Amino acid sequence: MSHLMNTYARQPIAFTKGKGAWLWDENNRAYLDALSGIAVNGVGHAHPKLVKAISDQAAELIHTSNIYRVLKQEELADKLCAIANMDQAFFCSSGAEANEAAIKLARLYGHQKGIEQPTIIVMEKAWHGRTIATLSATGSRKAQAGFEPLVAGFVRVPFNDLEAVKAVAQNNRNIVAVLLEPIQGEGGIRIAEKQYIQALSELCAQNDWLFMIDEVQTGIGRTGHWFAFEEMGVKPDVLALAKGLGSGVPIGACLAAGKAKDVFKPGNHGTTFGGGPLVCAAALATLEIMEEEKLAQNAAHLGQYIKERLTQELSSLTGVVEVRGKGLMLGVELDRPCGELVARGIANGLLINVTSDKVVRLLPPLIINQEEATQIVDGVISLIKDFLNG
Ligand SMILES: *Cc1c(COP(=O)(O)O)cnc(C)c1O
Repeated sequence: MSHLMNTYARQPIAFTKGKGAWLWDENNRAYLDALSGIAVNGVGHAHPKLVKAISDQAAELIHTSNIYRVLKQEELADKLCAIANMDQAFFCSSGAEANEAAIKLARLYGHQKGIEQPTIIVMEKAWHGRTIATLSATGSRKAQAGFEPLVAGFVRVPFNDLEAVKAVAQNNRNIVAVLLEPIQGEGGIRIAEKQYIQALSELCAQNDWLFMIDEVQTGIGRTGHWFAFEEMGVKPDVLALAKGLGSGVPIGACLAAGKAKDVFKPGNHGTTFGGGPLVCAAALATLEIMEEEKLAQNAAHLGQYIKERLTQELSSLTGVVEVRGKGLMLGVELDRPCGELVARGIANGLLINVTSDKVVRLLPPLIINQEEATQIVDGVISLIKDFLNG
């Protein structure tokens, strides 16, 4: 570990094996996974169908180049565009790169309309990644500090505040797009209000801006639907995906529809690894498993159960600010920093996360069953009660 760059304050634990919603450490101790590698392992660990798809593809062909046609990539684009109701896909290897593509697309869209200084509206507490451009779009001073100068071309407004967006629109002729998460994940499980996001999408249409949704965390069944935007009754022009898409192999996607279609031309954007046969095989298997096992429905159902129990048993306690979330993307905000709950969870064999200092975040695999959901919710309730009681 001494030869690793010191970029993570890691928990002193390493897992060597996984199955379903469970992980085992080097000493063969079992842990119930209520984090899924941060919303990645939606189909759980070592799903046989996923393992087979990856190993079959590895034996056949791992990489060629985007210089050639990649059949698995075309198949995945068809499938993703069908389920997301989008027109085109660009594949990359992470969430940051998916947003990077969205940002470049929006800028090019602006330039094509004669806007020389294209500017994108972004939100307070947003998280879009750690590359220099996506870090500049991210609304975390902690993540940005020390990396200035940031990339220009973003204006930030408070989340869930339509008037703030309108005010920017009046004073800035360079706006080309709005970029937001339908539920802010790293920002603390903050949900865009339906009315707000619908009005925002209308405002984008009226002004000819791109309405760009970052579903890197919320996408692929996490919130109880394929995508969180469906339930909110909006349709994006640009959609960024990653985390749950490949079940752990590095794949991200930037999807475009309507006026965002055909903005990129050959030479405008690209990547060596993006959308290779191996990762596309994993993503295709992930989508098939999601459908066959009705995992979005499972996330909606068990997420509702977990949220109701958390609300019943925690929301009236002093120290608990709010229980919120959708599907299996849930947060319990406390009135004080609670990062130590992660280690306490590990000691109890339960893997949870704390984000934004005070928000206990749950992102369990979408394949959990009722018994595992009960075990997670019981575990979290007792962790939080013990913590608040000192
Ligand atoms: C995690 C996350 C990202 C960044 O994804 P990486 O794969 O870590 O680059 C971007 N947007 C959202 C909403 C995320 O949750």
